Amino acid sequence: MSGSALYETFARVPLVFDRGEGSWLVTQSGERYLDFAAGIAVNSLGHGHPHLVAALTEQAAKLWHISNLYEIPDQSRLGERLVENTFADKVFFTNSGAEALECAIKTARRYQYVNGAPERFRIITFEGAFHGRTLATIAAGGQPKYLEGFGPKVEGFDQVPFGDMDAVEKAIGAETAAILIEPVQGEGGVRPVPAPFMQKLRALCDKHGLMLILDEVQSGIGRTGKLFAYEWAGIEPDIMAIAKGIGGGFPVGACLATNKAAMGMTPGVHGTTFGGNPLAMAVGNAVLDVVLDDGFIQSVNDKALAAKQGLASVVDEFPDIFEEVRGAGLLLGLKCKLANTMVNGALRDENLLAVPAGENVIRLLPPLTVSEEEIRDAVGRIHTAAAKLRAAHQESPKAAS
Ligand SMILES: *Cc1c(COP(=O)(O)O)cnc(C)c1O
Repeated sequence: MSGSALYETFARVPLVFDRGEGSWLVTQSGERYLDFAAGIAVNSLGHGHPHLVAALTEQAAKLWHISNLYEIPDQSRLGERLVENTFADKVFFTNSGAEALECAIKTARRYQYVNGAPERFRIITFEGAFHGRTLATIAAGGQPKYLEGFGPKVEGFDQVPFGDMDAVEKAIGAETAAILIEPVQGEGGVRPVPAPFMQKLRALCDKHGLMLILDEVQSGIGRTGKLFAYEWAGIEPDIMAIAKGIGGGFPVGACLATNKAAMGMTPGVHGTTFGGNPLAMAVGNAVLDVVLDDGFIQSVNDKALAAKQGLASVVDEFPDIFEEVRGAGLLLGLKCKLANTMVNGALRDENLLAVPAGENVIRLLPPLTVSEEEIRDAVGRIHTAAAKLRAAHQESPKAAS
């Protein structure tokens, strides 16, 4: 495909979708796919949700963009609603997850700076983390494959093994400003961080005067069966980056912080042209209308339970294909025995879309609006794919290995 005008950075599947309806994507030729990729946990309310379509089109007819030189009432309103429903006192809107992380990193460093500890700028992160593709967030993620060839790694990130509390304690030094963690690693292979570990991190941050920064870009907005995954651990962060689900498909991100954590973010120290624009804010508010509605998040838990049970039965039946089900809420992973890319291809052959992740895992990230019937449908397709993989594997073990 070297004839393409686009950067060759993506290995795209040759499918062209023309429209979406709830949990389904429809190709130009009318073929229907059950969408358990949801634009990588972005289409939190599925495709073409009437409330989101109405909010966006109504706003599109009024005003698209004015910049942050002026008041944006819907931005204030969305900020207030996020504050009301979380640990946070202050919000900064961005266009993406990586930008939300950039703001979170800057907020933590500025806090230490204005708090009389300008030498504290280092941030402890975890192996397997994914925080985005900007220069600072690839340094935070620490994955060699994303850092290679981009010049000196941005200074100030100290990575420790996932789940290793001794390593965290040892990594804390006189220059440490913060600890940054995803409560559930998404790209890293759908790895939930156990609640006691999160609680210990909170205690360590309090003891050493560090900011606890959570990356809930993937795990937030109801995905795990709480509005935010940190609620499962009964702790609160100082700073949190969100994106993906809050826009339901429109690019929106945000950095949330306590008053204390945000105290260095004074006029002029940070900015954005597009962040928090009227279109994005109309959609973000519309997403919250649905997600905060009575019973919505409980329904995520009910459906997650059904999904986990269905997947567990497929894993039991096909131990040669799958190793385990993991995850939280509707952020689910199937750890594979065969190559996850091959399994993902087999699912796609059954018109089921999923997303590969680290640790040879397939991520299942249906819209939070998915029905129990659609979950059963997906489980059936996974069952069919597994049976076909097994048959192919038995016929020609070499070709399938
Ligand atoms: C997707 C993701 C990001 C990056 O978001 P972009 O919008 O792609 O910049 C950061 N952190 C986590 C946990 C993510 O899943």
